[in-house]
Amino acid sequence: MAVAQGTCPSCGAPIEFGVGSSIAKVCEFCRATVVRSDRGLQNLGKVAEIANTPSLIAVGDSGSLAGRPFEVLGRVQLDHGLGPWDEYYVSFDHGQAWGWLAYAQGHWYVTSAVPGLAIPPYGALRPEMDIPLGQYGYFRVAEVRSGSIRSAEGELPGAFPPGFTRYYADCYGQNNGFATLDYGDGSGAYSVFIGYVFGEPQLQVTQLGQRSVQKVKAAQIKCPQCGGEIPKLSGDRAERVGCPYCGAVSDIALQQVVAQQEAMLKTPMIPIGSRGTIEGVEYICIAVVKRSSDFDGERFGWEEFLLWSQGVGYRWLVKDESSWMWVVPVNLAELDLTSMPAQVTWGGRTFTSRNSNEARVDYVLGEVYWKCQVGEEVEIQDFVHGSDVLSREGVDGEVNWSYSSPIPWPMLAQAFGLPVDGPGAQFSPSAGSATPSSGGGATVLLLVIVVIVLLVCMLGACGACLGDGSSGSSSGGSGTTTGGGYYRSGSGSYGGGK
Ligand SMILES: [Zn+2]
Ligand SMILES: [Zn+2]
Repeated sequence: MAVAQGTCPSCGAPIEFGVGSSIAKVCEFCRATVVRSDRGLQNLGKVAEIANTPSLIAVGDSGSLAGRPFEVLGRVQLDHGLGPWDEYYVSFDHGQAWGWLAYAQGHWYVTSAVPGLAIPPYGALRPEMDIPLGQYGYFRVAEVRSGSIRSAEGELPGAFPPGFTRYYADCYGQNNGFATLDYGDGSGAYSVFIGYVFGEPQLQVTQLGQRSVQKVKAAQIKCPQCGGEIPKLSGDRAERVGCPYCGAVSDIALQQVVAQQEAMLKTPMIPIGSRGTIEGVEYICIAVVKRSSDFDGERFGWEEFLLWSQGVGYRWLVKDESSWMWVVPVNLAELDLTSMPAQVTWGGRTFTSRNSNEARVDYVLGEVYWKCQVGEEVEIQDFVHGSDVLSREGVDGEVNWSYSSPIPWPMLAQAFGLPVDGPGAQFSPSAGSATPSSGGGATVLLLVIVVIVLLVCMLGACGACLGDGSSGSSSGGSGTTTGGGYYRSGSGSYGGGK
C-alpha cells in the first residue's frame, strides 16, 4: 500500500512511498535520492553504495520492539572519521508512527520526534550538561558530535544529501530514557527525538527483508593480512579484530588492516572463546585489550577482558597489578554530579576522586565492538569508595561512566573452568570486599593468596605493589563499558528527519 508513487526522474523506475512520513527515497535501481513535494518527484543526485557494516537488521525487516510492531523503511549511513555506522528509519504500529533505530553495544536505541521543545544551541552543549525536555524530564548529555552522511537506502523522513554534515547530541535520562538533539546542518534549526534504550533481546525480527549488501554468513572472520581464519564469537556485532596469528588489527566489514602489532605469544589468562557464568549469565570472552597510563614518568599497564552475552550485552573484566575487577556500565543520568570534580554520588554512596590520567590502548586481541585503534587515548577519572571504583572516560565530546568492584580470581577460575592456582591467581583483591556473588569455598584459598601477596610486598620484592598506591588508579577504570565512547564507534541515535 503506497501513500504516494511515481517514476524515478533519473532512471524511470517506479518509486513508491509506503508511509506518509517518508519524504525521500533512494531509487533501488539507480541510487538517485528522489524527494517528493507539491511539484512532484525531484532528483537530488546519486548516493554512494551502502558500505558493509556489522548489522543485525536490514531495510524491509519487520518484527517487534518491546512488543510494538515495527518495519525498517530506510537506513542512513554516517561517519565521523573512523568508518560508517547505521541509523535506521522505522515505522511503528503499522505506519501510525515513525522513529530512528540504532544498535550499539548490545542495545537498541529508539527515538521519535517530539515537537515544541526548546533546547540550548549546539555550541553551548557539553558532556554531562542537564537538558530539561518538558514533561519528559531531564536528560544528561553523553555525546556532542557531528557526522557526515555518506550513503542511504530505502525511504527516508527527509532529504539526506551525501556529504552533508549533521550536528547532534545524545543524552540519557532516568529509566533507560534516551534522547537525540538534532541540530541538522548546524544553521540553527533543530529537532528533538526522545525514546529509550532496549536490551538486544527486546527486538525480534519476524520477517526478513532483502539484504542490500551481500553478507557473507560465515562462522569465521578472515584476517586480511595473513588469511588466518578467526572464529566469529559475537556474530555480526564486532567492528574490529586483533588477529591471534599475525597480530594485525583489521576492520571486519571493510576487510582492511588498520594497525600492525606483534603476534601475541602467551595465551591470555582468560582465553578468548572461553565461556563462563557470572551472576547467572553465561558470557563468552571475545577479546583482550591491553591499556596503560603514565604515572610520574612511569608506564603502568593492565589488561581488560571483553565478555559478551546476548542477554545483557558487553561486560569487562579488568586485571591490574593487584586485583580483578568486574565492570558494569553506569547510566550517567543516575549520577549526582553536584560535587564534581571532587566527589560523585551514586546509589546512595559517595565516591571520592582518586586520579585522572590518559589511558592508551596498546594491544588488541580478538573482536571488539568499536572502531578500535591501537594508540587511541581517553582521559580517565577514577572515584573510589572503599575498593569500589566509579570511572569516567572522556574523549572527543563524549563521556562514559562505569562501576568496578573486585571479583576474586577463584570465582573467575571456577566460572571459566580455569585452574584456581593458575596465573590469574596472583591478581587477587587485596581486600576481600564486596563481590557480585560469592564463589563459595574459595574464601580460604583467597585468604592464603592475600597473605602471600602481602608477604611478597613486605619483602619489597613486588615493585608493582609499591607503585600501586598511585597507579592502582588506572586499573579499576576502564569505562570501555558504557554507552559510548571512542569505544562505541558510531553510536547512539541520530535524529535525522525534519
Ligand atoms: Zn532511479
Ligand atoms: Zn592475521
